[in-house]
Amino acid sequence: VYLGRVDEVAERLDRVLARVREHGFRMTPQRVAVIRALVESTAHPSIEQVYLQLLPEYPMMSLATVYKTVALMQELEEVIELAADDGGIHWDGRRPDPHPHLVCTGCGQIVDVELERIDELVHKVLALSGFGIVTRRIDFWGVCARCQSRE
Ligand SMILES: [Zn+2]
Repeated sequence: VYLGRVDEVAERLDRVLARVREHGFRMTPQRVAVIRALVESTAHPSIEQVYLQLLPEYPMMSLATVYKTVALMQELEEVIELAADDGGIHWDGRRPDPHPHLVCTGCGQIVDVELERIDELVHKVLALSGFGIVTRRIDFWGVCARCQSRE
């Protein structure tokens, strides 16, 4: 899992909030809380998980607010969309550059995996297909070590 230094995460949060403001979006405490939750989380949460996490502190918040805020972050390319084992969509707002993920089919956790030479792979795909590559998503599915030891 990509952690990043605490000050880097805090800096990025300020930057994302500034960008959202620059784009003329009204900044409500709920919106700030959603953005903060996504930028700080290492867990690749779903929208529902973000909602449930924030609900105790923001009981008036609606699920729609979380949806809209994630859509906004996606528009600004400050969050990436991931497939998950629960069939839902999960999000990485801590590290919004495309990077490979591992999905556990046992417990459903999603973790980052560091791979070198992804750029080479992208160039090869480009050369083989002639596609203008816009983005990429590389996911691996399997059973994590903890789930394996439980079996
Ligand atoms: Zn990630």
